[in-house]
Amino acid sequence: EKAEIRATLSPLYEVISNNSSPAIRFIHSRVERMSEQWIQAGLKMRQSSNKTVSSQMRVLLYPGALAGSVGQRFEAMVDKGGPLGELVQWADLSACLTILGQNLTLSASQHQLHSLIGAAPGRGSCPIQRPLTFDIVYTDYHGLAHLKGAMGLAFPHYQCRFRILDSFGTEPAFNLGSYARRHGYKTLWGSWGLQPLQYMTMFPHTPDNSFLGFVSEEAARAEVMEEELESDTYGKDKIAVVYGKQDYMWQGKSEYVKVISEELETHATVYQPAGHASNLPSFIRNHGLLTQEHFLQLLRRAKVFVGLGFPYEGPAPIEAIALGCIFLQPRFDPPHSSDNNDFYKGKPTTRQISSQHPYAEEFISKPHVWTVDMTNRTDVREAVKAILRTEVKPFTPREFTCEGMLERVHGYITHQNFCSKSVPTWPPESALRAHLGPLGQSCVSVCRRSSLVCEPALFHHLNSPAVFNRLGLGCSSMVQEINHLFPSYSPWGRRCGLQQEPLLFSCAGSDPSHRRLCPCRAHLPGQVALYPDIL
Ligand code: UDP
Repeated sequence: EKAEIRATLSPLYEVISNNSSPAIRFIHSRVERMSEQWIQAGLKMRQSSNKTVSSQMRVLLYPGALAGSVGQRFEAMVDKGGPLGELVQWADLSACLTILGQNLTLSASQHQLHSLIGAAPGRGSCPIQRPLTFDIVYTDYHGLAHLKGAMGLAFPHYQCRFRILDSFGTEPAFNLGSYARRHGYKTLWGSWGLQPLQYMTMFPHTPDNSFLGFVSEEAARAEVMEEELESDTYGKDKIAVVYGKQDYMWQGKSEYVKVISEELETHATVYQPAGHASNLPSFIRNHGLLTQEHFLQLLRRAKVFVGLGFPYEGPAPIEAIALGCIFLQPRFDPPHSSDNNDFYKGKPTTRQISSQHPYAEEFISKPHVWTVDMTNRTDVREAVKAILRTEVKPFTPREFTCEGMLERVHGYITHQNFCSKSVPTWPPESALRAHLGPLGQSCVSVCRRSSLVCEPALFHHLNSPAVFNRLGLGCSSMVQEINHLFPSYSPWGRRCGLQQEPLLFSCAGSDPSHRRLCPCRAHLPGQVALYPDIL
C-alpha cells in the first residue's frame, strides 16, 4: 500500500481516543484544535505533487515518559505546570505522520508494549521472539529501556528502526558507550550506540541529530487565513506575560520582574495549588496555569513575553513570537552547560547555552528577540523602553509551520534508512561544501559562519587521504583512529587523521589542537533540515 496524503485525522483519533490520561487528553485536544491547519497544509503538499510517493510504513509511537512509574510522575504534573514541551511534540508528530498517510499505533503502556512487540511465551521457559511488525518505532530515552526489556536479545537486531525523541540532543562522543567510558563522556543518558541521526531534537541544536521540531500553533492558524493576518499585528495591549508555569522558576528574579512591571502591566500563568497562598510579588496578575488555548489568547494581547532563564529551550517563545510578541530573555555569561549547571549535568551534550533560548537568540534575533543581562537594571529598563517603541509583525520560521514539518518529516521517512549497511546517500554528494575549520572550532560553528549547516551524512566523503591533498594540506603522517575529532588536521607535525568509526563522525566535536574537516551544506530558507535541491 502507498502512503497517500490524507485529508483527515480520523485514523489518529481512533488510535488515541480510548485513552484518558491527562497527557493523552492534552495531545488529543491539541491535535483537534489544529486539525484544520494540518489538513490544509496536507492539501497544499498534495498539489505540489512532485513528492515521491513511498510505501506506507507501519509506525509505533511509544512515548516512554508516559509509561510505567516515570509516566505516573509525569502524568501527575501535566495539570500542575509540569513540562508540556514533549507532549506538544508527540501531538504534532502523530498528526504529521497521519497526514503523511502512515499507519500509526500509539501506546503509552509498558504492559501493552509487551503484547505489541514482546516475545511470545514459548514451550517451557524459552520465549519465542516474534518478528517486529513495525517499520519505525518512535520513542524516547525512557522508552528505549522498555523496548530493550521487551525485546531482549532481538533488541540489537531491530534498533536501526528506532527514532528517539530527545529534546536537548545526544552528541556522538556520548552515544558510543565504549568511547564515552574511555574518554570521560559517560552520562546517565547516552551510550546506546545508535546512529546519531536516529535522535530527534526539539530545536536544531547539534546537526549530528535530526531536527524533528513541532508546530507553532498560531503560525498554523495564520497559514490558513493568510491574507487576513498578513497586515495584522494583533491589537496589542501594554502588557507583559512572564514565561514560567511554576513558582520556583521565579526565585531570585524579583528585581528583574519589578523593572519590567514598572513599564508594563505584568501577567503570569503560574500553577496555584488550591488553598495555597501565592509567593508571587503582589504587582503580578496571576491567571493560574491556563489551558493552551487560553494561554495563546493571553499572548495575542501581550506586547512582551518575558523569559526568567528557565525553562530552557521550550516551545512557548516560538508561539509568543508567532503571536507578535517580543521575547525578552536573559543572557548567560558564562554560558550554561553540563559542566556548570544542574539541569544540563548528565545530559549527553557539550553545548554551551548562551541564553534561555539560543534558537530564538541566534536564528530569530532582533527585532523579535532581545537578550539582556538580567542583573543590570539599566539594561533591562532600556530594553523594555526600546521594545515599547518597536512595532513587530508576527513571525514564524517555516520549519515551525505545518507545511514545514510535513516536508521535513516526509524527507526523513523517505530518505533516512539506518538499517542499510551502505553509506548514506541523502543528501547527495552534490550538496557537499567542504570547509577546513580554524583550530578549536567545531564543524557546527565552522559551517554556520558561512551560513551553511554541518551535515553528518556527508562526512564519509571527506574521510580519505585524497581530500587532504585537495585542500592543499601536506600530511607528514596519516593515521586512522577512533576519535570523534576526525577527520581533522593537526598543524603540529602536520598530522592528518581519518575516522575509523563512522558512529563517531561528529559536527559537535572541537579541540584547540585540531583543525576539523567539515561537511557543510546549504539549507532551504527557514528550514535547516533540508537542502535546496530536495523539493
Ligand atoms: N502552556 C500552557 N499553559 C500555560 C503556559 C504554557 O498550556 O499557562 C503551554 C504552551 O503553549 C507551550 C507548552 O505549554 O506550548 C510548553 O511550554 P514551555 O515552553 O514552558 O515548555 P516546557 O518546559 O513545558 O516543556
